[in-house]
Amino acid sequence: MTDYARIRALVTGGASGIGKAAARELQSRGAQVAGLDLDPSGAPDGAIGVHCDVADDASVRAAVQEAADRLGGIDVVVNNAGIGAQGAVTDNDDDEWHRVLDVNVLGIVRVTRAAMPHLQQSDAAAVVNTCSIAAWAGLPQRALYSASKGAVQALTLAMAADYVRDGIRVNCVNPGTVDTPWVGRLLDTADDPRAERAALEARQPTGRLVQPDDVARAIAYLADPAHVSTTGTVLAVDGGMHGLRVRPA
Ligand code: NAD
Repeated sequence: MTDYARIRALVTGGASGIGKAAARELQSRGAQVAGLDLDPSGAPDGAIGVHCDVADDASVRAAVQEAADRLGGIDVVVNNAGIGAQGAVTDNDDDEWHRVLDVNVLGIVRVTRAAMPHLQQSDAAAVVNTCSIAAWAGLPQRALYSASKGAVQALTLAMAADYVRDGIRVNCVNPGTVDTPWVGRLLDTADDPRAERAALEARQPTGRLVQPDDVARAIAYLADPAHVSTTGTVLAVDGGMHGLRVRPA
């Protein structure tokens, strides 16, 4: 049995959706958790909320230091903060490309870099990145977002290779369509959000949207120090979409 009580975890984007669910799941297993977010007020009860903009290196360094000080160290980093973008490759200008890559890709680099000295001191070190089936799927009108998540997946494997001999495991989850405020915001832009939601559910092989807690349990599995042999893996949590070759809307 894993002694989660000694695990100190930070979760970026830990105040909403998948990140908040992951923070709660880790807490429920006994871990101490810091939620780093642009708006940390949404971090779950009992978690330490720390303001952080993963697109700003000074903000990341200060937030990771605060989390490490308050938790007494860092064993687990969940790099989950991310933003979306719509459009074909011709639709987003350079500023938009830089903005999304800055958060989705460089955000992971900055947080991991700042946390690395703490992970190096841990005997239960793990990094879990929230990627997406967009890294695999060839989604229409998601050129920038897909490129960012393709980079996250490749980065995950490269980081796993670089730190395997230090005992630091690095894995990622690839969620499908998850029922978070993010998807709620997208549905709200439809003419008939209820009908759009029903159509989205009907597209899922399982007939339901992935729930944030489904992804949270996968993150907790990958973070669990008992799983010493699991590194450099990509775990789909997508209701079967990728494996069953279903194209998301
Ligand atoms: P969400 O919008 O509900 O939550 C994202 C959180 O990240 C928010 O609390 C937000 O404040 C925070 N955040 C955004 N930019 C930030 C920044 N610069 N610095 C710090 N925090 C920042 O979204 P979600 O659906 O929970 O998505 C979380 C992750 O899951 C993202 O990386 C997203 O790409 C990925 N994902 C989501 C889905 C989905 O269908 N919802 C599917 C696949 C992957």
